[in-house]
Amino acid sequence: MAKKQFKSESKRLLDLMINSIYTHKEIFLREIISNASDAIDKLCFISLTDDKVGMDRSDFKITLTVDKDARTLTVADNGIGMDRDDLENNLGTIASSGSYKFKQELDKAQDDVDIIGQFGVGFYSAFMVAKKITVNTKKYGCDTAYCWQSSGADGYTVKEIEKDAPGTEIIIEMKDNTDDESYDEFLEQYRIQGLVKKYSDYIRYPIMMDMTRSRVKEETKDSENPEYEDYTETETLNSMVPIWQRRKQDVTQDEYDRFYSEKFMTADKPLKTIVTSVEGVVTYKALLFIPSAAPYDYYTKEYKKGLQLYSSGVLIMENCEELLPEHFRFVRGIVDSADLSLNISREMLQHDRHLLTIAQNIEKKIKNELNSMLANDRENYEKFFAAFGRQLKYGIVSDYGMHKDELQDLLMFYSSTEKKLVTLSEYVDRMKDEQKFIYFATGENAAAIDTLPQTELLRSKGYEILYCTEDVDEFTLQSLMTYKEKKFCSAANDDLGIESDEKDEEEKDNSALLTFVKETLGDKVSEVTESKKLVSHPVCLTAKGGISFEMEKYFNSVQPDSGMKAQRVLELNLNHPAVKAMESAVEADIEKAKKYAELLYSQALLIAGLPLENPSEYTDLVCSLM
Ligand code: ADP
Repeated sequence: MAKKQFKSESKRLLDLMINSIYTHKEIFLREIISNASDAIDKLCFISLTDDKVGMDRSDFKITLTVDKDARTLTVADNGIGMDRDDLENNLGTIASSGSYKFKQELDKAQDDVDIIGQFGVGFYSAFMVAKKITVNTKKYGCDTAYCWQSSGADGYTVKEIEKDAPGTEIIIEMKDNTDDESYDEFLEQYRIQGLVKKYSDYIRYPIMMDMTRSRVKEETKDSENPEYEDYTETETLNSMVPIWQRRKQDVTQDEYDRFYSEKFMTADKPLKTIVTSVEGVVTYKALLFIPSAAPYDYYTKEYKKGLQLYSSGVLIMENCEELLPEHFRFVRGIVDSADLSLNISREMLQHDRHLLTIAQNIEKKIKNELNSMLANDRENYEKFFAAFGRQLKYGIVSDYGMHKDELQDLLMFYSSTEKKLVTLSEYVDRMKDEQKFIYFATGENAAAIDTLPQTELLRSKGYEILYCTEDVDEFTLQSLMTYKEKKFCSAANDDLGIESDEKDEEEKDNSALLTFVKETLGDKVSEVTESKKLVSHPVCLTAKGGISFEMEKYFNSVQPDSGMKAQRVLELNLNHPAVKAMESAVEADIEKAKKYAELLYSQALLIAGLPLENPSEYTDLVCSLM
């Protein structure tokens, strides 16, 4: 029979497995058992609505069989099984999520084989211990059964076989022992039992194995020299209690961490594990995790939010979106409730009263946990905020600000005075008596905002400024409008709400100079004013009306022809030598004065981070003045 080749990307993973020097080869059993359990989940789910399956939940099981002579360990399940296409697609290529993600990480990490242990690496991991793998399988609802066979890198074969019942049998023929490495351990019943306990205890179907034990022979029981005999009994190796059904005090954080990374196929540890058990109008248990890092696809459409939904231990939905509000979509976990009907459809579920109540409780719970993390574990909260702060801000901006009350206290911004992230509440508590507004400034990064001329006056007054460095920041503050009755005010606003304290001794009339500059610049600016906020800089641009420069930049980046433009107000610092020089030039050399006006405007654009309308004109201008 002609051998088929593995798809190329699978081949690399396969090579790695075959030549693995990884010390935790034992995880292969966990992977194979977990696949068996998934396959049973699928058939079990069908059996809920389809009598033809003819099986009860209690009929499903996974059976382990050891044949020491043939050096094989067989893992059999009576789950959904595979047809020819499934075999090609699932075992001939890395199509599956776990293995694919693993391969991606591997490409990043190169030689770091240790990541094997942290991923669901799936079926291929069996090649760490196997010299040959045979898969006998029959899919539920199909008449034909198949045998897939592979000794690794040289490909695989598929042929038809006879098999009565649906399900899959994975026969792992152990590698030969070498001087350094013995594979016999994986044929020892106690070793296998230990591995099942360690990695697969919570699997919800019985994992059965014939265990051979020794006992005193009945007829020699009373003699002085009792004789022993072996007897064999089929035992269930796992306790089948899912981790979320166990009492919190009986489970170690290590176990939760391991469950998290296996279940959600991620290498990171959760930042926070939330265990709840609720009894009352609705009864449910939930095990929730706040990840410590955003998955690579988190801010894309690929990322699917939702919690796994179980009804009395039976998985009924892989990703129940209804259980999580959009703003907490980063939370992963499972919910198990006996109050939900098993064969509920997705449409019905959306309106299910129990589910709505659970969702509301969960939202409250997550919010409380985050608040308490912020109050008691600032370091971790900042980690959380670095990963998911943007999500909270989106949560405030979306739905017309509907969730702002519950989310605003979770926000953090970098502070000009504290030089670290602060909350709005901390800001307001520190506000000076006469200070009217909560000030913020917008820019690419903290260093750029540090040097913004617009913030000079605020700084000289000792007012704290919140830095908005993400495109969503300003929208967030605009959606909030106020916090504890204090309005937000951008440092770029023309009115900062500050009374000027030094009344001009001789009220000089500067209108002629301002009119000159406005006429020179024409439509480029909507107004030219005398600045109240500049101290050491000659000029700055501020925005008037509802659109800020950051919004202009943002809209033009997402839609270049949007025509969105902030109204530019050019503020002049009339005490600055450069502005004074322009003023003198108006009398002496009007053409030169015009060039100065253009130059100062260009500088204001540059400082505001806005593009020059015509860079080559600008350089010509500079050269002509030199
Ligand atoms: P993963 O489990 O991450 O999807 P695997 O490489 O372990 O990746 O498995 C690939 C696919 O092969 C599975 O998704 C499943 O469709 C199929 N498969 C593996 N083992 C079994 C089994 N015992 N019964 C049915 N299908 C299986």
